[in-house]
Amino acid sequence: MNEPIFLTPSFQERIWGGTKLKSIYQYDIPSAQTGECWAISGHENGESTVISGEYSGEKLSDLWENHPELFGFYHSEKFPLLIKILDANYDLSVQVHPDDFFAKSLESDELGKTECWYIIDCEEDAEIVFGHHAQTKTELVTMIENNQWDDLLHRVKVHPGDFFYVPSGTVHAIGKGTLVLETQQSSDTTYRVYDYNRTGPDGERRELHLEKAVAVATVPHITKKVEPKICRVDEATITTFVEDQYFSVHKWEVHNRIELVQDQPFMLVSVLEGNGTIQVNHKAYPIKKGQHFILPYRMENFILNGFMSLIVSHP
Ligand code: ZN
Repeated sequence: MNEPIFLTPSFQERIWGGTKLKSIYQYDIPSAQTGECWAISGHENGESTVISGEYSGEKLSDLWENHPELFGFYHSEKFPLLIKILDANYDLSVQVHPDDFFAKSLESDELGKTECWYIIDCEEDAEIVFGHHAQTKTELVTMIENNQWDDLLHRVKVHPGDFFYVPSGTVHAIGKGTLVLETQQSSDTTYRVYDYNRTGPDGERRELHLEKAVAVATVPHITKKVEPKICRVDEATITTFVEDQYFSVHKWEVHNRIELVQDQPFMLVSVLEGNGTIQVNHKAYPIKKGQHFILPYRMENFILNGFMSLIVSHP
């Protein structure tokens, strides 16, 4: 197969969600509290469906299982990555995710969750929680029990274009007024540490998972610094944010034309801004803001034409 595989997202309503996924990307969202667009997902809690070519109508998880050749026979039982766009109209809960080892022992059949965020846009004073100040697990528990959130949590101001690498075990929260593209391991396991004492749609406070959260949290916090590498190729700028054991994430800013090679098992592409075409084997496919697609294994050289900004990841 030598053409891009276009996908349609699924959506998740959240108490912190808003309407930006519709106003900015024109998605057909289920309500005015839509928090998450699961753009490229083989996870059972919200699957992408193929909307182009010979596999049109198939779920990504079926494609993964039945056509390993499209993914370079990449060794993983399930589709390993999950690409989301998050509209944080309000603060997300302060949370932490397990690594593969904890996920396997504490949850059935889940991967760990290392994630990373590209800040697409945000309000002027938007901030995130990124790490904490406790030095030991005992201190962490004490500060949680005493509601010392201002002393415990480390807050960072964010700006459009910022990138954060959030390994499993990192205590974190996306703050209100932030639009994020998230690249993560395909997992839906979250342990809530603090939820601002909010109540859910049923009038009840959302569940916290303090015991598991403390068990998986990295203490003391370690910030893994990422140094973006920027290079210019043809009429494009390629920024590499991170290359690690779970994923590599890049931004391709195309200012007219660039020819590239698909040299990975597969690549996941999200169009954040602009429009143009992707040309493969003399056939040009129109692409525009809000679309998501996979470049399968052994797709030939391809040419991007137009003015656009893309986030690209691969295992
Ligand atoms: Zn998270």
